[in-house]
Amino acid sequence: MTTVNLLEFDLEGLAAFCEKLGEKRFRATQLFRWIHQRGASDFAQMTDLAKSLREKLATTARVEALPVITQHESTDGTIKWLFDVGDGNAVEAVFIPEGDRGTLCVSSQAGCAVGCRFCSTGHQGFSRNLRTGEITAQLWFAEHFLRQHLKRDDRVISNVVMMGMGEPLQNYSALVPSLRTMLDDNAYGLSRRRVTVSTSGVVPMIDRLGADCPVALAVSLHAPNDPLRDDLVPLNRKYPIAELLEACQRYLAHAPRDFITFEYCMLDGVNDQPEHAQQLVELVRSTGISCKFNLIPFNPFPASGLLRSPQPRVLAFAKALSDAGIVTTVRKTRGDDIDAACGQLAGDVKDRTHAAERMAQRRTVVLHPVRAAASKVSPAPPVSQGH
Ligand code: SAH
Ligand code: SF4
Repeated sequence: MTTVNLLEFDLEGLAAFCEKLGEKRFRATQLFRWIHQRGASDFAQMTDLAKSLREKLATTARVEALPVITQHESTDGTIKWLFDVGDGNAVEAVFIPEGDRGTLCVSSQAGCAVGCRFCSTGHQGFSRNLRTGEITAQLWFAEHFLRQHLKRDDRVISNVVMMGMGEPLQNYSALVPSLRTMLDDNAYGLSRRRVTVSTSGVVPMIDRLGADCPVALAVSLHAPNDPLRDDLVPLNRKYPIAELLEACQRYLAHAPRDFITFEYCMLDGVNDQPEHAQQLVELVRSTGISCKFNLIPFNPFPASGLLRSPQPRVLAFAKALSDAGIVTTVRKTRGDDIDAACGQLAGDVKDRTHAAERMAQRRTVVLHPVRAAASKVSPAPPVSQGH
């Protein structure tokens, strides 16, 4: 008999499931706490639940983690897991300890259909969306494994970033219940600002997220003008910079004291020139958007044909933004020795999209003279599917 994996549910979903079993909704809260706060997977252990309910659960439900294929621990404490999601696909999650913070980087898809040229997940192509239970399972497993591993009773993971494999906003319906579980006080109780969704810019879903679950938003910008961004982040052809920034403004209306984090991967000779910094400053000034910039040193991989910007150039770029009053940080690379850094997450994906062929065709970055590019946000080009 097939059973339901209870990691698929947020509290609302679990309450509906309990009602179907003829149980009162408050039982769901107890069950939810057992699963997420205590890491229990064996219903027999849940002694404050009525025996009749435990018996019903034993025949209809299960709490099932994803099989771990490998676990690597870096000398800096970073831990990377490769999880089997079946059918030849594997996804990665990374734990990054830093002071009193513990951040888990979570995957949302097996592969990614956006196909950014500097991202190894993008180069692998797309296989499928993860289910809610597979997204939540990464946090459930990591939190309870780490409590044991680090011999701690209190919460280990204080922050979640949806920055693993995949474009979270292209898997919206599975993402949101998982986010709700992260925020739920009966589960992980993470505050809204400590859960970050990172997106390459799926404009309609930014609006929906703002209305449904306005967590912290990071936007992978990577270029200050449309021609360059079209090339680096193909989704830009569908949702160009001006539309993206307007969506960011609308998002902030849901969370007025928040800001957008713009991620900007520094690519040698491609998007790291003083002119690019200047264009970014103009973009931010013209829109008045409340934001921070996070410059990410590019983590190279051979198929990309791209190189990391030299450190002095990254620092000069950061200074140009800071001097213009834009809060700017440069991301530290963590877990380098275990390939756990951004964009190096390359689980195993059964590509259904022929990404490698498409990438090979687009191998050369077309460099557009920056000065010729409009300094204002350019008007929307005709809508075209980016990938
Ligand atoms: N799809 C989402 C989230 C996953 S990628 C997004 O694109 O935002 C998480 C971050 O890692 C993004 O900012 C992405 O641009 C960045 N990234 C991807 N490949 C990288 C690489 N090779 N080096 C450095 N950062 C990279
Ligand atoms: Fe997908 Fe993000 Fe990688 Fe782009 S950077 S290919 S959106 S995972």
